[in-house]
Amino acid sequence: MELESGFKLYQKSIRDVDGVKVAVVRTRDGKDVIHLSGDYSPGFSGCYNIAGGLICPFTYANVRILMGMLPSLKAVPLGDRGMSFGFGDRLGVATPGHVRAVVGSGFFPVFAQQSIREMQRTRRTPQDVMLSAVKGMLKEGYNAKFGADADHLKRLEDVDYVLPYGYSMFTCDPSDYVNNGTALMGVEELKGEFDKLPDSKAILGRYNGKRFDFKGYVVEFDEMDVMRAAVKYYRAVEFAARMFSKIRDSVRSNFDFELSVDETDEPTSYKEHVFIVNELRHLGVEFTGIALRFVGEFHKGVDYIGNLCEFEESVKVHRAILDEFGPYRISVHSGSDKLSIYPILGRYFEGFLHVKTAGTSYLEALKVVAKRSPSLFAEVYNYSMQRFDKDRKSYYIDVDKSHLPPIDTIDTRNYPDLLQNSDVRQMLHVTYGSVLISPLKDDVLSLLVDFEDDYYALLEEHFKRHIDALKGGV
Ligand SMILES: [Zn+2]
Repeated sequence: MELESGFKLYQKSIRDVDGVKVAVVRTRDGKDVIHLSGDYSPGFSGCYNIAGGLICPFTYANVRILMGMLPSLKAVPLGDRGMSFGFGDRLGVATPGHVRAVVGSGFFPVFAQQSIREMQRTRRTPQDVMLSAVKGMLKEGYNAKFGADADHLKRLEDVDYVLPYGYSMFTCDPSDYVNNGTALMGVEELKGEFDKLPDSKAILGRYNGKRFDFKGYVVEFDEMDVMRAAVKYYRAVEFAARMFSKIRDSVRSNFDFELSVDETDEPTSYKEHVFIVNELRHLGVEFTGIALRFVGEFHKGVDYIGNLCEFEESVKVHRAILDEFGPYRISVHSGSDKLSIYPILGRYFEGFLHVKTAGTSYLEALKVVAKRSPSLFAEVYNYSMQRFDKDRKSYYIDVDKSHLPPIDTIDTRNYPDLLQNSDVRQMLHVTYGSVLISPLKDDVLSLLVDFEDDYYALLEEHFKRHIDALKGGV
């Protein structure tokens, strides 16, 4: 292929599709575009001719035509078993690094993954998220399967918002329907709430006095246990069933449906795990994954905090429950950087595991910034510090503000080391939204354009460490 000077051709992106050559090219002003040559069909829009072909913008309309030509650009479901990894990308430029990390690992990648909350905070749309992932896969020459996760859908309207853009996975977050107050309720109050549930008699009948033996781990329900689990989760399960039918009625092909109850106050008990999956089945919800809240602390962007033996013990029982009620995947949210528990997760959930990460790719981007433009890093750092008190409120983190050093006390050469500090990591992790809607976003993005290979190399190394640790347990 020949290109005019000043254009950069991504060699790995070149594909031959029935006489049409498709490639990704970077223009003189640093934009990635689609380059077509040969016998291309009409239909692409917003394009212009250059010597040797046609240049088209990465719009969703153009990408849909490409998806028709290259079906591997369409997201497909992970299914209810296997090992998979979710690569959330808040900046929208990380996919090539994610591709490099996952290729050859045996893990099924989810390259488009963003929660409604993250989209709101970054002012991105489900369409942007999908486009960024497809662009990254094209650039890197990736032709294998991938999934796309519309994450943390909390309202039925959220389904309408994401549906037109080819997502293959829908993560239902029923937290508005979870009653977190059950632990403190007296018998009378609990009974009163339980009686309000539809079909409460039948629910009681399904569990009361039942004894489940999961390979030697016995889970028994008495009346109080049933009422507590039902009052806490029944309406959440019912909401999930409504969301599931809505998606099933609208999506013609197969899809993944995950239920996430990972953001509750208390760890998911074995009884609750049994209750939730059994009720989902009872309501006909064909779920492929569930995100439980595990024991210990899962703070953003830092390693697991807790007792590893206790964690392992609980994971064993959850696996035994899965064997009885599965197949489905156990999905681990806030999964980045939890390297100490990865071997345990890999071992006990082998064949049934999904791990989601998101903010950690943003932190890797800030490493590039810290190294290549200390002055920009200082601006991002200071702005994040200003926003921290406000932004931290909706996140589950553990930061001592006195451990956050003022940036002017740090030698610029040591900026990259700041990203090893767990307080700094969490602070930067929760303030991304503010940074990414400020004018700093364009500066960060254009730096990443200039140093994209730095960024991809860091991501590759970072995620290979994650995947190797997960495999280490197998
Ligand atoms: Zn989550």
